[in-house]
Amino acid sequence: MISEIEKNFYCITLRMPYRLRHVNAYLFAHDQELALFDTGLNSPQAYETLIKDLSGIGFGVKNIRYIYLTHVHTDHCSMAGLLQKESGAKIQLSRAAFEEYQHFREVEPAVKQLRKFYARQGMSPHLIDLIIAEYEDIRGIITEFNADYFLCENDYYEFGNWKFIIVDTPGHAAGHICFFFPEKGFLLSGDHILPYIAPILSPDIFDDDFRPLATYLDSLSAIEKLPVSTVYPGHGNSFVDFQERLTDIRERHQKRKRAVLDFVNSQPKTAYDISHEMISPSLSDFDKFLALNETITYLKELKAEGTLKEDNINNILVYTRV
Ligand SMILES: [Zn+2]
Repeated sequence: MISEIEKNFYCITLRMPYRLRHVNAYLFAHDQELALFDTGLNSPQAYETLIKDLSGIGFGVKNIRYIYLTHVHTDHCSMAGLLQKESGAKIQLSRAAFEEYQHFREVEPAVKQLRKFYARQGMSPHLIDLIIAEYEDIRGIITEFNADYFLCENDYYEFGNWKFIIVDTPGHAAGHICFFFPEKGFLLSGDHILPYIAPILSPDIFDDDFRPLATYLDSLSAIEKLPVSTVYPGHGNSFVDFQERLTDIRERHQKRKRAVLDFVNSQPKTAYDISHEMISPSLSDFDKFLALNETITYLKELKAEGTLKEDNINNILVYTRV
């Protein structure tokens, strides 16, 4: 479904089979050229919808000149390669996002590291196998693409009359960026801030010292000072109560972090044990995996704050209260 936000600026909403159900791509038109911000999930239905949406406003895939990506999660970037092949569009994203994309294209090392990382968190080999199967499925959807240009913090761009700057916002994903249009106060936020929900945070399986929450909260502060009038998110409707959203998201993380700490006591527990105690057993395996990632995120933060202790026992990480 395509909707005109204002002249030459559109939101394209594409369906996807995941929990959030829809993903937004944003489109700007100038003469016969198009700039597409995020691409949606690569599925035959989404592709068909995109073609129909473009033709509804008098364009085709071949008119896409630039593709800008907020981050390289499947639901935002997986159609980029296909569109690039058909249109010759130039793909632009942050260097860190492209490195993340390349990291996960090397299957063997990524799978080996996944296994090692989650075994240390107390996950059973059976569950790890399920997660790897899921990961392989998701990875297979992403079409291969080349990056034509790396976008850097504070870089300034123009497309027709549209002017925008790049804001680094890592946290939800490595190399995540937002696009801010200073003259309009528009923020294309990707998954950095969403209406209703706080974006998912995950550990970096290649970097044990990475603190997803601290990184994410720093990136919230980075956008807080911008004079944002309207946020155009990667999922859900646009919204104007920008500052309230920031406060809500911060409070939610504080609350969830305290909830995780409540499950840590003098008895050593793994991240998996803690997560397992906290969640409903009826969750799907993938949702359990997301919950585990969230638990690891808070444990890392609590450890950095000195509220709990992490010990390595036979290559399994366990947590106790200080
Ligand atoms: Zn997303």
